[in-house]
Amino acid sequence: MEHVYFDHNATTPLDEKVFEAVLPYLRGRYGNASSRHEFGTVARKAVNVAREQVAALVNVQPSQVIFVSGGTEANNLFVKGTAGYLKPTQIAVSAIEHPCVAKPAQELARQGWKLRKLAVTGDGEVDLADVDEALKEPTGIVSVMLANNETGVIQDVAAVGERVRRAKAWMHTDAVQALGKIPVDFAALNVHAMTLSAHKIYGPKGAGALVMDKRLQVRPIIHGGGHEQGLRSGTENVPAIVGFGAACELAASRLAELGPRLEKLRERLERGLHGLDAVIFGEHAPRIPNTSYFAFRGIDGETLVIELDKAGFAVTAGAACSSTSTEPSATLLAMGVEPELARGAVRFSLGAGNTPQQVDDFLRALKAVVSRLRSLTAMAV
Ligand code: PLP
Repeated sequence: MEHVYFDHNATTPLDEKVFEAVLPYLRGRYGNASSRHEFGTVARKAVNVAREQVAALVNVQPSQVIFVSGGTEANNLFVKGTAGYLKPTQIAVSAIEHPCVAKPAQELARQGWKLRKLAVTGDGEVDLADVDEALKEPTGIVSVMLANNETGVIQDVAAVGERVRRAKAWMHTDAVQALGKIPVDFAALNVHAMTLSAHKIYGPKGAGALVMDKRLQVRPIIHGGGHEQGLRSGTENVPAIVGFGAACELAASRLAELGPRLEKLRERLERGLHGLDAVIFGEHAPRIPNTSYFAFRGIDGETLVIELDKAGFAVTAGAACSSTSTEPSATLLAMGVEPELARGAVRFSLGAGNTPQQVDDFLRALKAVVSRLRSLTAMAV
């Protein structure tokens, strides 16, 4: 039986074009990008091309792109690095941030910062009135993600950024889940820094970037040979960076086609979900086109995921990329979803390779699994 992958928010398959671009750098072009000889020059040029490709996708200058190992590191670099140049005041982050923003923010709280969680509405959108409320306090750092990894809900980062600029604080967005799915323009978002990751856009694991406004002051968290403008020491992961660049170029070339195509597939899925009485989280908010997050009352999400896996479909319960815990999703709790229903949450995330047939097959399997689990629950009661 062939397994069908519907978990693209966790990670994506490496695109064939990206693979072709990376391969020479895993073989003959193995130079260290800091070396002065021909081998090094070849590697350096490849890193520079990748920097241009990443910069082009988010509309910045290449020198604003700092390569790091992925989204987690970029978020840590922003939060801890920016705090390194500020005296402790308030750090405000949305209540639905990925743990790699939420936990560094908690770390700052241990160092004397005041941590403020920004509330979200029932549809999973950051509440701008609460942002205004929070910014009445002296604030140094704000981070609000562009698209949530679980619900797919798109945040009005530009509106938050405008307020944060007025308050003279630094504004960051984690754009990991938005990149390649919707247009992402650094300047239009009103941010001082933005996090990107290669493996969510059909690139390799182990590469990402912190994109920065030139005025932002960031203290490195990894010290050494002074790579990446002194902000991220360590020999560059040239193959992964080359792949990241190629993935950005690919994303730019197919954004206009891919977004609407995935949205149609999601509509197809959600029509079926409505027929099965599913609750769809964030359904009425703007969402990235590939994501659907839903639950069935009285059915446990983990059980559903295991049964669907047996039927040949890979989806995820809660936020699998971040944790192995069985606690209900913090994002759903912040949205005011009852813990009982939140425990049922299943995330379905489409990618470039998925087809209408696969969605139909998934719905058929889901229907069978749900009615079996419902009849078991009915017997238990
Ligand atoms: N931010 C968000 C919103 C994510 O979904 C993820 C991935 O799980 C990350 C950051 C972490 O990125 P990476 O896996 O590149 O460290």
